[in-house]
Amino acid sequence: MTRKILIDMLKLRYAMINDSTLELPEACFYPSPNINGLKTIRELAVFQYTCRKCEDAPCISVCPADALEKDETGVVVRHTNLCVSCKSCVTICPFGTMMTDFFKHRRNKEIIYDLNDEKEMEKFIRACPEGTVSVTDEDESPDKHIYKLNEKVLIKDYLYITEKQ
Ligand code: SF4
Ligand code: SF4
Repeated sequence: MTRKILIDMLKLRYAMINDSTLELPEACFYPSPNINGLKTIRELAVFQYTCRKCEDAPCISVCPADALEKDETGVVVRHTNLCVSCKSCVTICPFGTMMTDFFKHRRNKEIIYDLNDEKEMEKFIRACPEGTVSVTDEDESPDKHIYKLNEKVLIKDYLYITEKQ
């Protein structure tokens, strides 16, 4: 079984709301280095699983830079080369889905932990807000609200299910 990290998105969100200095450290998860087009793990997880995928998504229409769009599966994608970090999308989202940590441009100076290395994985967890991230051998388990983000990262979140889904 592959050891993975499990990020509890609710606990993480509460921790970050209560202490604005907290954030999730960054990591790479594939055998070759990847930085996801400068997107944070939290951004990838939030758009995939926390976002309610509004039909007439106000975040997309408010964006002055046309930086947001839905992909073929309905997941909102932010084009980092277009985004000007105005945060209008954060303000208009009626569900508070987004937070301003998406828009910090800090990749050149931050530590990026390699989750393929057991020691780095332990360091990553120690660097996370307390109690928000753990190691698991489990796989995706929707009945426990656990979903796969990628080969090394599982997300725990409560999805908003619409009738269409
Ligand atoms: S921060 Fe501004 S430019 Fe970037 S995606 Fe949001 S609305 Fe668009
Ligand atoms: S407004 Fe918020 S919940 Fe709706 S699609 Fe945009 S990010 Fe998702």
